[in-house]
Amino acid sequence: MKQRKPIVIANWKLNGGLDLICVSVASFIGKHFNADIAICPPYIYMRDMMTFLQFSELHIGSQNVSRFESGAYTGETSAQMLKEAGCSLCLIGHSERRAMFGENNEGCQIKVCTALSHDLLPVLCVGENQQQREANITEDVLNTQLREGLANIDLQGKDLCIAYEPIWAIGTGLAATPKIAQEVHQFIRAQLSDIFGAETANGLRILYGGSVNKINTRELLGQPDVDGLLVGGASLDPGHFLTICEQVSELAIA
Ligand code: PEP
Repeated sequence: MKQRKPIVIANWKLNGGLDLICVSVASFIGKHFNADIAICPPYIYMRDMMTFLQFSELHIGSQNVSRFESGAYTGETSAQMLKEAGCSLCLIGHSERRAMFGENNEGCQIKVCTALSHDLLPVLCVGENQQQREANITEDVLNTQLREGLANIDLQGKDLCIAYEPIWAIGTGLAATPKIAQEVHQFIRAQLSDIFGAETANGLRILYGGSVNKINTRELLGQPDVDGLLVGGASLDPGHFLTICEQVSELAIA
């Protein structure tokens, strides 16, 4: 049995609607999981999701968080607002936000601090692209993302997750092999150990994301340093996502 409680996060991106909220949450009602499970819907549906949550163990996550607390920042949503909407975690620095919305490591660091100060669990996303992998610089890329994204952060007993999402695996159907995932997660844990110390690093969960589905879940999660999954496309099918969560839960007690 793994020491760290597994975590599965659904990232709906700009997809879904009220009907998907209803069907997804309904499929979790009355079920117990040996894992933390969260859905990150578009902001507008968080309140709708919250009304159903008393009947399930699901958590609400956010796909992003503002680096600002309040003020003239059109289109932003603060950590405090997310907390009020019932959120318990937020993704930070997803590769789509880095590529399409100009997010950088320095901004991610501010967001991690903001999330921590509002008791939202930050899930910092890191990952290399195809060219970087082919050029053999995956570790350099991850090292920079981690060192800069986590600079000067004192966890003070608070929790934090890292999501390793190789960009070449996101939405492509080509998930990292379990071997690659384990090698990279082990490397990430070693960096976390340098940053926070070995004891803290051993307690932090590192998720894998990128074309996760019900076929590859068991093998990926079977790796010693893979503590959870970030699921995009497959989470838009409620039955498929439920199966992934059930498999993760079974593995947690195996
Ligand atoms: C994601 O973008 O976070 C993701 C994991 O997507 P997919 O599962 O569709 O590859």
